[in-house]
Amino acid sequence: MRPIQARISIGAMAHNLRVARAHAGEAHVFAVVKANAYGHGLSRARRALAAADGFAVLTLEEAANLRLMGVEQPILLLEGMFGADEIATCAELDLWPVLHHAGQLDWLAQQPPARPIRVFLKFDSGMHRLGFPLADHAAIVARVQSLPGVAGVMLMTHFAQADEAAGVDWQLQPFLRELAGHGLPWSSANSAALLRHPASCGAWVRPGIMLYGASPFADVPAETLGLRPAMTLQSEIISVQTVQPGEGVGYGQLFRAERTMRVGVVACGYADGYPRHAPTGTPVRVDGRPSQTLGRVSMDMLCVDLSECADAGVGSPVVLWGDGVPVDAVAAAAGTSSYELLCALAARVPVVETD
Ligand SMILES: *Cc1c(COP(=O)(O)O)cnc(C)c1O
Repeated sequence: MRPIQARISIGAMAHNLRVARAHAGEAHVFAVVKANAYGHGLSRARRALAAADGFAVLTLEEAANLRLMGVEQPILLLEGMFGADEIATCAELDLWPVLHHAGQLDWLAQQPPARPIRVFLKFDSGMHRLGFPLADHAAIVARVQSLPGVAGVMLMTHFAQADEAAGVDWQLQPFLRELAGHGLPWSSANSAALLRHPASCGAWVRPGIMLYGASPFADVPAETLGLRPAMTLQSEIISVQTVQPGEGVGYGQLFRAERTMRVGVVACGYADGYPRHAPTGTPVRVDGRPSQTLGRVSMDMLCVDLSECADAGVGSPVVLWGDGVPVDAVAAAAGTSSYELLCALAARVPVVETD
C-alpha cells in the first residue's frame, strides 16, 4: 500500500477546544466545522468537539449530517439559506441561519416556517463581504423581529483583520455602538479575535482554525498559543538517488546539487494536497530530523534532502506537516495559509484516527 496517511488526533482537537474556551470567558463556543471540519472529517470533529456549545457549518447538508450524528446543540448556518426551499429544513432541524441579505427576509416573510426559528442577523462592519449596512440597523432589526417565522434575533459581524496589527476595534466599536440599543446577544470573534481581542467575545464566539491546531497569526506559532496540531500528514521515502554536483532534481530541474548528495523521493505530491508551490527549502522531518524539500513538487512525489539524515533510506518516515513540522511553516513557505492546506487534504489520502 502507498505509505502516505493523515493521522488525525481526537485529543488534540479536544485540547484546542479547551484552549478556546479558556479565552472565551462567559461566551458560548460555536465550533466551526465547515469544509469537512477544515479537512479533518465532520464526524470525527463532532466527536472530538462534543463539548462545544454549538457547531457552525456552511450548508444544510452539513447541518443535516450533524443532526443525523446525534448533535443536539445549536447549529449555526454561516451563510443562512441559499433559497426559500431551505427554510422548512431549518425549522425541522432547529438550525440557526445567518440572515445577511434582504432576499432572505423576503423568503421568510413569504414562507414562514411551521415552527419559528432563531436567526443571527449579520451586519457589515467594514469587511464588505456579507451583511446589512450598519446604518440600516433600526429598520432591519425591526423588520426581522416582526416576522412571524422568527423566534429570536441575535446579531453578528465578521472581522477582516483580526489577525493583523489593524485589529478589530475599527469594526467592533461601530458595531457595538450602533447596535447597543437593541440589547440583543451578539457574536463577532473568529479564532484570531478570540485569542487576541477578549472584548470581541460577546455571547457566542466562532473559532475554527485554532481548533485544528494551526495559528491564525502569521507571526505567532501555534505552539506559543498552546495549540496542538490535529492533523499530521506523513509518508515514507520510496526511492533514494545520489546526485552529483551540477545535476538537477525533478521537473524543471529547479534544484541543482552543489555537491554530491543523497536525495529521498517521498510518496506525497500535490494530488495529495501538498502545495505545488512549496519551493526548495520547505520544512519536513525525515526519520525525526529536520530537513527540507528539494525542487518542484510532482503530482505523486516530492524530493527531500538526506544530507543530514545518513541513516535514512527507503521506508524512512517523513512528516510533511503536523507533529514537529508546523503546517503554518509549510504554508508560509508555499505562500499560502494553513487554512488552505488543511482544507485541501485530498480524498485519496487514507486517514488514521488517533487519540
Ligand atoms: C470560517 C468562519 C469562522 C472561523 O474562522 P477562523 O479564522 O477559522 O477561526 C468564523 N466566522 C465566520 C463567519 C466564518 O465564516
